[in-house]
Amino acid sequence: MFLLFQMFTVLPLLLYLIRVQLSYLFVGTTYPGLKWVCLLNLTVMSIAVFFAMVYPHVGSILRYVGSFSGLVYIFSLPCNLTSRIAPVRFLASKSGNNNNKNENGITETKPKKSKAAKDAKEIFQPSNYVLKARLMDYWTQSEQALEAEFDRGEGIIMVDREPLVEIKGSEIKLVNFDSKELRTKLNEYGLEIGILNSVLLEAIDPNDKYIDFRPRFGFSIQIHPPPKESGIQIQDIKKNLGASLGGHFISLRMAMLMISSERQRNLLARFQTLARWHKIYVRCPTCTTPLRQAPSKTSARCIRCDRVFYPNISPVAIVLIHDESNENCLLVRHRNAIGGVYTAVAGFSVPGESIEETARREIAEEIGIEVQTIKHLGMSQCWPMPNCSLMYAFSAVADKKQKLDISIDELESAMWFSRPDVKEALERVEADPYFKGIKEWPHKHDLRYIPPTGAIAHQIIKQWVLNK
Ligand SMILES: [Zn+2]
Repeated sequence: MFLLFQMFTVLPLLLYLIRVQLSYLFVGTTYPGLKWVCLLNLTVMSIAVFFAMVYPHVGSILRYVGSFSGLVYIFSLPCNLTSRIAPVRFLASKSGNNNNKNENGITETKPKKSKAAKDAKEIFQPSNYVLKARLMDYWTQSEQALEAEFDRGEGIIMVDREPLVEIKGSEIKLVNFDSKELRTKLNEYGLEIGILNSVLLEAIDPNDKYIDFRPRFGFSIQIHPPPKESGIQIQDIKKNLGASLGGHFISLRMAMLMISSERQRNLLARFQTLARWHKIYVRCPTCTTPLRQAPSKTSARCIRCDRVFYPNISPVAIVLIHDESNENCLLVRHRNAIGGVYTAVAGFSVPGESIEETARREIAEEIGIEVQTIKHLGMSQCWPMPNCSLMYAFSAVADKKQKLDISIDELESAMWFSRPDVKEALERVEADPYFKGIKEWPHKHDLRYIPPTGAIAHQIIKQWVLNK
């Protein structure tokens, strides 16, 4: 009877223990898949049975070792489980394949380790990227966890929708702060930051300052205009505040167009999208009860019907149209655009169509022609104005002989331009990203500029000009 009990309790535990250790050693995970688990279990069991039958004394030793291992495992099981779930385990692996570029303007050093340590890490530990993704998921779900991290975090700031940037020549960068340091500085102006007016942007990699991941927040502040009789202008307050924080507040559109780092533009797009959504999405669309926003501002839960809501993202197709010879491209000028600025055709998806169909339909709607080939260019961009759009870039081939029939509600003109003409406009915008030269040019229907570097339109037009 006792033997039977042992067979059904100790043996499976022993098998589990050995299998876990072996698979972790060789495959790098405790559960490598059903096939491997069965194979390992079978191998371990066969060895145990072989010894029990051929060498009974060794078999007894195995049995006692098995019982002891089982006991150890049973008592260590709770610790084991806790260590897998606990957030404190989101400690970074400091070596290996951490390829995050230092685009945030923040020092991100990677301590060097021996080759053996590096190899061990590659076998046993998930990459920093995976850890970050899971940590972000945890922070967005656990209110207490994110609140507890607030003072340890860093962040960028927007005042009245204007981000604080550092301008060095034509280079524009977001200014980053320690949460605590910024809180102290803002207090001098009677301004407050806290979890309520912050959104979660990303997890910062460990660096020479910290050994673990930290959250990066977006701090969103509004300044109330001073009373008229005070004679103080709100612009002056912002200017002084910006100067004392080491930068300038510029319009969100300008920042999105002029910041060259794609990573920073994406952070800013996320910041504006979440801050705006948090501000306007206050009631449940189903039962109109107030919503409870997550501290990360990435979701909101209805306190009555318990539904969870997430910020909406609208898909947009943007298309560079060229002719069959690929020597001419078709660009458009929007009604509200600055004179002389041409760009690619773009439009929002409507329900029930693929993004490729969006591209085809928008071309037909806006310029009245049909295109044959639509090709995804492998590029996309998040754009936060007026709402959050995700722009997918395409190229399309059109017959140049088709008559253009523009939609006058949206466009002022649409024209075919040769590659040298577009190249000239590209070079002009690269030399003069603020369109300073536009005033000297009276003919607004001429192609003078394309959008600046931060716009995906710039990227796809540039790619076509360089014929890549
Ligand atoms: Zn509700």
